[in-house]
Amino acid sequence: MSRFSLIFATLSISTLLFLQSRAAEPLPSKVLTQEQQAKLTPQSVLAELMAGNRRFISNVLTERNHSKQVREAYAGQFPKAVVLSCLDSRIPVEDVFDRGVGDIFVARVAGNFINEDILGSMEFACHVAGAKLIIVLGHTHCGAIQAAIDNVQVGNITPMLAKIRPALEAAQPFRGEKTSENPEYVAHICRENIRMAVRRIRKESTILKGLKDDGLIDIIGAYYDLGSGEVSLIQ
Ligand SMILES: [Zn+2]
Repeated sequence: MSRFSLIFATLSISTLLFLQSRAAEPLPSKVLTQEQQAKLTPQSVLAELMAGNRRFISNVLTERNHSKQVREAYAGQFPKAVVLSCLDSRIPVEDVFDRGVGDIFVARVAGNFINEDILGSMEFACHVAGAKLIIVLGHTHCGAIQAAIDNVQVGNITPMLAKIRPALEAAQPFRGEKTSENPEYVAHICRENIRMAVRRIRKESTILKGLKDDGLIDIIGAYYDLGSGEVSLIQ
């Protein structure tokens, strides 16, 4: 064997051993326990999720062993937060906040509006399962908001859009073209729709309002930018 071949063979074996040791390394993220959940506050959970969003934007998501997490989470779940998102397929909610198995509850409906079932789910998430934060997450270029502006009438989409249309009446006056073709108007209504959902959670759930008043949870609105992946908070 030539000197070159010997060096090459040694390097190949070293590379193989390195890759094997990498594959055997335990991945860092673990499933949240009840004790860890109890130490969280609404503010710490929000800060953690926003930091996760910055990692998502930078494409440096935490590496996770999902099959191991699934096995760890089998005995129970103690998530940090509940996110009500639009149905839109371009919002991978767990990835958007860099979360893994057992980290967050996710409820989804086109137009991220509130109804009795969503409220019941949120009450389960916070009152029973101990989540500390509710985020209503709307997004730019929302097709459900555009369809509500256009007053689309078809099948079960008609009554669904009726639950978004109150945001059109509640929105602040808008100067400009009030059509679904105007992205600024769509964003204006989307933001009002998010604020309306937050107001309705506080108004229509005695349980969640009580948790909020006691400082045990927070209820906030947020807006996802489809173009950048960035989440910004809505006041
Ligand atoms: Zn949408």
